[in-house]
Amino acid sequence: MRLSLLPFAFLIVQAYAQKQPHLDFTRVEAEIKPYSDNRISGIVRYDFTVNSSVTSISFDAVDMEFSNVYLGTKKVTDEIEYDGKTLQLKGNLEKGKHKVTFGFVAKPKQTVYFMGWNDHLEGNDQIWTQGQGKYTSHWLPSFDDMNEKVEFDLTFHVPPKYTVISNGKLKEVKTTDTLKTWKYDMTQPMSSYLTAFAIGDFDKKVMYSASGVPIELYFEPKDSLKVEPTYRHSKAIFDFLEKEIGVAYPWQNYKQVPVQDFLYAGMENTGCTIFSNQYVVDSIAFIDKNYVNVNAHELAHQWFGNLVTEVSGKHHWLHEGFATYYAYLSEKQLFGNAHFYWKLYATAQTLNKVSGEGEGEALTDPGAGSLTFYEKGAWALVMLRERVGELTFRQGIKSYLEKYAFKNATISNFLAVMTRVAKEDLSDFREEWLENDEFPWESVKNYLASKEPSLKLFFELQEKVKDTKVTDQKLHQFFNSETPEPLKRQILFEWYQKIPDSSLAKIIQHEPLKVRQAAALAIPKIPEQMKSEFESMLSDQSYVTQEAVLFKLWEAFPANRSKYLDQLDGVVGLPNKNVRLLWLTLALVTPEYQPESKKAYFEELNGYTAEQFNFEVRQLAFQYLYQIGALSDVSLRNLIKACDHHVWQFKKSSRNLIRELNKSQEGKTRLNGIKIVLPDQEKQLLEKVITP
Ligand SMILES: [Zn+2]
Repeated sequence: MRLSLLPFAFLIVQAYAQKQPHLDFTRVEAEIKPYSDNRISGIVRYDFTVNSSVTSISFDAVDMEFSNVYLGTKKVTDEIEYDGKTLQLKGNLEKGKHKVTFGFVAKPKQTVYFMGWNDHLEGNDQIWTQGQGKYTSHWLPSFDDMNEKVEFDLTFHVPPKYTVISNGKLKEVKTTDTLKTWKYDMTQPMSSYLTAFAIGDFDKKVMYSASGVPIELYFEPKDSLKVEPTYRHSKAIFDFLEKEIGVAYPWQNYKQVPVQDFLYAGMENTGCTIFSNQYVVDSIAFIDKNYVNVNAHELAHQWFGNLVTEVSGKHHWLHEGFATYYAYLSEKQLFGNAHFYWKLYATAQTLNKVSGEGEGEALTDPGAGSLTFYEKGAWALVMLRERVGELTFRQGIKSYLEKYAFKNATISNFLAVMTRVAKEDLSDFREEWLENDEFPWESVKNYLASKEPSLKLFFELQEKVKDTKVTDQKLHQFFNSETPEPLKRQILFEWYQKIPDSSLAKIIQHEPLKVRQAAALAIPKIPEQMKSEFESMLSDQSYVTQEAVLFKLWEAFPANRSKYLDQLDGVVGLPNKNVRLLWLTLALVTPEYQPESKKAYFEELNGYTAEQFNFEVRQLAFQYLYQIGALSDVSLRNLIKACDHHVWQFKKSSRNLIRELNKSQEGKTRLNGIKIVLPDQEKQLLEKVITP
C-alpha cells in the first residue's frame, strides 16, 4: 500500500508460522450481503486438501456468529470451538480433498468501512475494505497467515442502485426483486489480506493494455470530467511495468476505485486497487497533486506482494521497497532523468538525516518504519541494479517472480536467485544495504552525481556556497532554459536570500510555473519590489501557488486585500479545497470585505466540518476556524465526533485541537456547555479526550 503521510507510520507485524501445515485451502466461494447497520452476513464454501490426516481445521474469524456448519455433507454441531477469533471444527479428516460450508454474521469494527450511510444525501453511500494491517478475518472467515493462499470467488448481494467491485472477473450480474447479485471469479490463489470490495455509485471507463489486459477505471458520476487527469498515464504505466518487469501481468484484469475517507493513499488488493478520492483531480490540481506515483506503486505490487508474497513482516522489503522502486522507474519513463534522480535525492536526504540522528533502521528489521521499507528499500534496489548491471538485474527479477509465482518468499530467496543470475557473491550488498542501520550516504551521493549532471552541479554549488562569500555566487545565472527545473527549484528553496530582489523579480517574470511556485513558497515576506510579480502569480494555473500567493499578498499589502480576494473568489483548489478554505478565512477576518456576506462565509466555512466532506477538507476547516475563533456549535460537535474517526491522522489532529481548546478558560466553558447536550457516547468520548 502507499501511506499518505510517509514517515514513521507503524506496521503490524505477524510472526511467521504456518498455522496448519497439513492442510491446504485451495478455493473459497463466498456469498456476501452487507447491511446498512454495518453488519455483513454470508456463506462460505471452502475446498481444502488434507496432506496427512488431521483432527481439526480452523479459520480466523473475528466476533462472528456461525450457522449451518457442514463438513462435506455432515452437519457439525457439537464439534465447534470458537473464542471470538478462531473458529475450530473438530473431526477426523483423512488424507484427500474435502469441503466445509457455513454461514456467518459479522459486525466488523475495522477492515470494512461504511461511508455516508448516516446522512440523507443521495449517491454518497459507500462500503469499502482495507485488508492489510486490518485483517480480512473481521468480515470474512479467512486466514491472517499470508502463507495460506486461496482462490477467492466472491458473490455480493446488494440493493440494485449500487455497483460492486471486487477481485477477479465479473462473471454475472443478476437482478431479483430487491437485490442485485454481482458474481466475481478468480482463477489464481492469493493471501487473504488482498481480498477486497468497494460498493457505491460508480461508473467506469475501460481500456486495454498493449498486452490486452482490461483496465477498468472507476469514478463517481459527479467526477466524470476528472477521469482523464485523475487516471492520466495509466496505460503508459501499465505497459511500461509489464515490459520492464518482464513477466506478464498475473491477474485477469485491473481495476482502480477511488473511495471516500480511505485510510491510506492506496491499497493494492489483487486486481482491484482501492485508493483515496483525494487523488481525483482536475487538470490544474494535477500539477501539484496527482495519482501517478500511487497508481504505479499499487500496480507494481500486483507482482511484488500479490504474485510473490513475503513469508512474514521481516521480508517487507520485498513488497514496499520493490513497489516504491518500480513506481520511481515509471516516473522516470514518464518525466525523465532529472525528475527521477532529484526525487531520489530528496528521499536520500531524509534517510541520511534520520540515519545521522542515530535513528537509521535495517531493512531486515521487521519493526522498521515505512521510511525504511519504502524509501531505503527503493534505494537498495537502485544500488543493486547499479551493482549487477541492468540486464542481470532484470533477468534476476524475472527469475525470482517466475520461481515464486503464487507462492511466498524471503529476502534470502530473492538474493539467492539474484546471486545465481549475477554469478557473483552479493553478501556485501546484503550487509551494506539490508542489514546496515545506517544509510550509505557517500556512495549514494557519488551515484547521483555520476548519473545526473544537474545534481553534480548542485553538490559543487553547495561546497562553493559554504566556502565563499554569497556575492561571489551568481546563483541567478542558472535561471536559463538549459538548467533542469528541479535544480532551479532547489536553488530557490535553499538560497533565495542570496539572490538579489531584482533578479528574483526577473525569475518570477520569465520562469515556468513550477519554478515560479518555488519562489512563491520560498520567499516568506513579499518585498515591495516584487509586488507586481507576486500579483501576477495569482493567476498561475496551480492551486498551491494561488494559495501561497493569496496569503502572502494579503499579509504584505493590507490596502489591496479586497482586490486580491475578488480575484480568487470562487476558486476551490485541490481536493482538500485549499484555496476556498483560505479564501473564506481571509474574507472573514478582513472587516472591509463584503460585510453583508460575512454570515454566508461563516456558514460556508463551518459547513465544511460536516461528516459528508472528506477528512482532509474537514481537518483544514477545523484548523482555520480554530485560528480565527469562529467554530460554531455544530462544528464543535463535529470536531468531538471526529475524535473517533477511522483515519488516525485525522483522529489525532481532532483530539489535539480539542485539548488545545480546553487550555483556555473560554474554550473550557464552551466545551462544558456543549457537553450537557451531547448524547452519552459523545460525552464519554469528549471526557476521554480532555482527561489528562
Ligand atoms: Zn505499497
